[in-house]
Amino acid sequence: MNQTNPIILSRDQHLISRKQIDENCLKVLYRLHRHGYKAYLVGGSVRDLLLGRQPKDFDIGTDATPSQVRKLFRNCFLVGRRFRLAHIRFGGNQVIEVATFRRHPGDDELPEEEAEHSHFVQNVFGSPEEDAARRDFTINALFYNIADFSVIDYVGGLKDLETKTLRVIGDPRVRFVEDPVRMLRAIEFKNRLGLSMDQSIYQAIAEHKALLATAAPARIREEIMELFRHKISAPVLKQCRELEMLPHLLAGYPGSDESIALLEKIDRRTASGIPIDESFAIAALYLRLFADSCPPSRHAHIGEALRQANDILVPHSRYFSIAKGIHHQARELLIGCFRLARGRGLRGEKRFLQHPLTPLAFELFTLWSEVRPQLEPLRNEWSSAIDMQRNRINSSNAPIKKARYKQKSARKKHHK
Ligand code: ATP
Ligand code: MG
Repeated sequence: MNQTNPIILSRDQHLISRKQIDENCLKVLYRLHRHGYKAYLVGGSVRDLLLGRQPKDFDIGTDATPSQVRKLFRNCFLVGRRFRLAHIRFGGNQVIEVATFRRHPGDDELPEEEAEHSHFVQNVFGSPEEDAARRDFTINALFYNIADFSVIDYVGGLKDLETKTLRVIGDPRVRFVEDPVRMLRAIEFKNRLGLSMDQSIYQAIAEHKALLATAAPARIREEIMELFRHKISAPVLKQCRELEMLPHLLAGYPGSDESIALLEKIDRRTASGIPIDESFAIAALYLRLFADSCPPSRHAHIGEALRQANDILVPHSRYFSIAKGIHHQARELLIGCFRLARGRGLRGEKRFLQHPLTPLAFELFTLWSEVRPQLEPLRNEWSSAIDMQRNRINSSNAPIKKARYKQKSARKKHHK
């Protein structure tokens, strides 16, 4: 590879301060540096710090090999089959990931799928420049060098951050064929950071979107959950629909306007601080489809609703290898919405009200009733019954806990 000169911003030319960097991450950077290795903050954290955002996690890049890293840290474990990474563990379950700079494997080396099944770890260590070039977008390939507190840019990421442009490193057509998940990540970052997308990305997606169906389902599943966690499921899936990516991404999900409107409510719920779990996200994705496939009337049967819920959810759960517990919970949420939409006073209501998932189903139904206002009177009918049940559970729980606590402390005393 030809050497190119990177753009380097010295410490007084950018706004990243060490105060913004996690304390343990700094410790790792300094220790690597003290032992003569290159130690850079890499990837999303540099991008977020330059944008004035709080990074989700801090990753480190170095020219020390994984075993050299391990020798420096007592609390270090090597993980990963395909690429060895060092995980340095700190208290409170914190893990700092340290990766040796690597390059894109050449043609004479194993293709990724084969390498994944190989027992041998690929030896693809590279220079910092090569490490920048193998990353996905220019804004994700910036480095912060602990040696002199400078920012290093090999790929034009600083300019793109300034002009708020998402640009693929290299030719998007090549990079999307190499890894189709990057097409989804493009839409994700565009919406997360409010960027405009370089035209070449649109063209490459139009050409290669069908390849999304060949990506490892586990990776797509993880990126989809990232959309929910970042409260951008609605705009991203809407754009995926417009770009006709959905059939290759989520084959059973049509992405209708009503469904996207529900996802907007879900994103707002997450933004209010309520963590999203996967079963809730799956139920939300498929609620519109389910509601239309078995319209609830007073006489509608639960058996039929169960069949419809299975028809919709089973293909999703199979494709993405969703654990049984999550699948069942998503189904219970759909069935809960079905029961709520049938109205009050039917057989089994008492048991339904006592079911532990009913409050969550009611929460989903409430958001759904904001999308379909004709459901609002029903929602209001249920509201007081659900609240009463919730209060009953709360007040019956409290004395039990107290009694147990007393027993325990009595036992402790006895032992003394
Ligand atoms: P987040 O804030 O979501 O963690 P991130 O930029 O750190 O954003 P990650 O998915 O954690 O994203 O990946 C870390 C870095 O690894 C990215 O910034 C990018 O440089 C690189 N990367 C991740 N996925 C890919 C990919 N599919 N192809 C090339 N590089 C990737
Ligand atoms: Mg990250």
